[in-house]
Amino acid sequence: MILPACAPPGAFLLALAAATLVADARPAADLLVTNARIWTGDPARPEAEALAALGERIVAVGSRDEVETCRGPKTRVIDAGGRRVLPGFDDSHVHFVDGSAKLAQVQLKDARSPAEFARRIADHARTLTKGEWVLGGTWDDQAFAPPRLPTRQDVDALTPETPVFVERYDGHMALANGAALQRAGITRETAAPPGGEIVRDPRGEPTGILKDAAMGLVYRVIPPPSRESRLRTIREGLRHAASLGLTSVQDMNPSYADVAAYAELLERGELTLRVYAAPMETQWEDQARIGLRRAFGSPWLRLGALKGYADGSLGSTTAYFFEPYRDDPTTSGLLSDEMQPVEAMRERLVKADAAGLQLCIHAIGDRAISIVLDLFEDVLKVNGPRDRRWRIEHAQHLAPGDFPRFARLGVIASVQPYHAIDDGRWAESRIGPQRAKTTYAFRTLLDAGVRLALGTDWYVAPLDPMPTLYAAVTRATLDGRNPGGWMPEQKITLNEAIGAYTAGAAYAEFQEQDKGTLTPGKLADLVLLSEDVFAIRPERIRDVKVVTTIAGGRVVFERER
Ligand SMILES: [Zn+2]
Repeated sequence: MILPACAPPGAFLLALAAATLVADARPAADLLVTNARIWTGDPARPEAEALAALGERIVAVGSRDEVETCRGPKTRVIDAGGRRVLPGFDDSHVHFVDGSAKLAQVQLKDARSPAEFARRIADHARTLTKGEWVLGGTWDDQAFAPPRLPTRQDVDALTPETPVFVERYDGHMALANGAALQRAGITRETAAPPGGEIVRDPRGEPTGILKDAAMGLVYRVIPPPSRESRLRTIREGLRHAASLGLTSVQDMNPSYADVAAYAELLERGELTLRVYAAPMETQWEDQARIGLRRAFGSPWLRLGALKGYADGSLGSTTAYFFEPYRDDPTTSGLLSDEMQPVEAMRERLVKADAAGLQLCIHAIGDRAISIVLDLFEDVLKVNGPRDRRWRIEHAQHLAPGDFPRFARLGVIASVQPYHAIDDGRWAESRIGPQRAKTTYAFRTLLDAGVRLALGTDWYVAPLDPMPTLYAAVTRATLDGRNPGGWMPEQKITLNEAIGAYTAGAAYAEFQEQDKGTLTPGKLADLVLLSEDVFAIRPERIRDVKVVTTIAGGRVVFERER
């Protein structure tokens, strides 16, 4: 039997196929948001004043009068007071548990000198119990005056006993102090693993800086968190995400223990954020063996994607380019250890794809991106055409000839505009003006017919969507030196940016039928903003706050006024 949930004349109706309902029981909405300026993302009706939800789905979107008919005696009504409403944000690329853990870890991003860096680490070490590691950090050597990489000598005197392993904010290098090097057994004799580097001083002694795969030498000796502590960490992250208007995230390379923790929180009714988990590509057989295919699961927790790495990062000079770095001509970057050799990667991707798993591959340098596109073409040749929605994560620096290939293969560019205004401070000195033209080339990608999915790469960048929207539309670097935009021809519009953060992100996780726009039948995931992002100057977008977050028809965050 099919009947409408409520009957707003002329409004969009959802025909609910609900065998349990009788003909005259037209359930009133559970939630009604009215007096709002709703950006629906639906080209058929881009703006609306009100919206109603029954259970976790939207049942009506329209004018105030149209939606008013959904009101019943028990309906919760939110008067938006004329505020702007958007679909909930769906961050296409986060490292959720690492990000959540960093909320409580040492903060080093704005340390202005190695001395301040060391002092903050020592202060934090005093809050830990004996044997616990100082982790986190997200330091930025470019913030030191003058910029230089920190060394173990900077911190050893203040933390002689406590092991310290703190990452650069891009996650592609980290500093270990003496106690950490000792626990990991790293000495001047230790050889770097493929895809990694142990930085040494002129006498050949490790400075404490470990790059990419070499970081694994230390990570393997750090004790894993207990189940309770992992749940505590994720709860912290869920609160943070809800306060910023996130209703979905796509979690890149979570551990299986992280996925188990999400499942436990879901079972307890505590999961307030939808999670699509993409464990490591190297472990593809685990998902394939039990028949999990892309986007398998419930609207709250899904699996079936794989995250792989093709190279490193620009900040660590490990992004893999055709030409050498301009400020370090001895290197063109590094392929990741998963790509050594590339044939092994190809074999895994072919098999994982044949098993129906979605491939999300990190590639930053132009040569790494080109190789990943080659690999995708190889997979296509072997396995034939299908709707697979391959993704290149970051897709930062493209060879001009690769834009059409990107589009032809239907590869989604999973991009993080905040990196553009962050790296944009120094990227040109590293890659030169010519390569900079097709760097963070969001406009060229869209114009070439490539779909964008926006995200932050949290913990690498802030989880807050507003600085990301600001970055996409202004391209104004964080140092204030490019107020008109760095490579301004690559700006995208606010409509495009919000679209790529909602519907575009939903498409990238095979969920466009369920979310990404505010239309009847979709999940009731939405946010109310402190200011109308469409009515203010673009420079002010980064200061806009989310005042209410609704996920699945349930209010999961309300800002105190
Ligand atoms: Zn990432």
